[in-house]
Amino acid sequence: MLRLLFLSTPVGPLGSGQGGGVELTVQNVAQEMVRRRHELEVVAPVGSRLTNIPIREIEGNLQIAVQTQERNTPICLPANSVLGNMWTYARQRRSHYDLIVNFAFDWLPFYLTPFFDLPIAHFISMGSMTIALDQIMTQVAQQYPGTVGVYTRPQAGTFPFGDCCNILGSGIDLSLYEFCAEPEQSLAWLGRIAPEKALEDAVAAADITGIPLKIFGKMQERDYWDKICRDFPAAPIEYAGFLPTRELQQQLRQCRALLMTPRWVEAFGNVAIEALACGVPVIAYRRGGPAEIVRDGETGFLVEPNSVTALVEAIKRIDEINRDSCRQQAETEYSLEALGDRFESWFMDIMRSRNEKVLHL
Ligand code: UDP
Repeated sequence: MLRLLFLSTPVGPLGSGQGGGVELTVQNVAQEMVRRRHELEVVAPVGSRLTNIPIREIEGNLQIAVQTQERNTPICLPANSVLGNMWTYARQRRSHYDLIVNFAFDWLPFYLTPFFDLPIAHFISMGSMTIALDQIMTQVAQQYPGTVGVYTRPQAGTFPFGDCCNILGSGIDLSLYEFCAEPEQSLAWLGRIAPEKALEDAVAAADITGIPLKIFGKMQERDYWDKICRDFPAAPIEYAGFLPTRELQQQLRQCRALLMTPRWVEAFGNVAIEALACGVPVIAYRRGGPAEIVRDGETGFLVEPNSVTALVEAIKRIDEINRDSCRQQAETEYSLEALGDRFESWFMDIMRSRNEKVLHL
């Protein structure tokens, strides 16, 4: 049994959607570690909620999401930083734990790593973003081999230390997602409404095909959304808001396909496996995480990045995909058990090499 201290993302409370897919990953890894009888405490900003897992809520101002910044933006912390406060708490409580697991994509936890006398596992949830972050992450990856984990290989490839990353993938609680064999005549788009997700490409495809597009997700950049609405005044789109998993899957499963149109190298794309779990095929740009997940022609289509024409062509062929194969792929590759096995052995490896190091001193 391990005594684990999870430190969540400091860009928003868990359950708010502000943190994107890493919020679901924290929920799922935590849930699975508890099921495996590890002792676990989750530390997260005030207002955070997880299903069936208590949270130590920490006060303070949120971190600015790094994907909104330039590559050479300096490191920035607000006054009374929640990230700083979370790590103060971790320092005070360190004697109660074997391992700290950091889920923040921020400079401070990497910088603090050598100052802690217990091991820290860093789970990195996006591709390379800024020079300062790349530098500190590289230092930790080199100085503490095996302690850096990522979702996928294409994501690892964006970093200078890509070869040293543990590839952990993702997984979901499949019992929460119901299979739907007979969809309605609509498409889905799912994610944070922010420029790196390029919602406008999916809206353009809906505009051309005339097939209604249901949009679900956190309204992160209102000006960006308003511009899309102005640019495509007649597109058949409906914004359904940011929904909790249970309600989200109720609507998602009725769609004919999920469109994934990220402009950036998507680290994973939890929404892809949520769609597959409902039997919904995924049409995605052939790049980043989705290109690792979708089996082209079998559980969806991988198309030329940034091409609306290619999206439209794939939409026309969607009936070639067997929805049972989609659910089947989610079950075999993305269960919570499979996710738990990978994270657990990562944690065990870190503990083992730490103990070996101590023995050699
Ligand atoms: N999501 C949600 N409700 C919604 C829309 C999205 O809970 O109405 C969640 C979804 O389950 C997923 C996350 O938002 O976990 C988006 O994560 P993804 O990995 O696709 O991208 P990221 O935001 O991390 O770039």
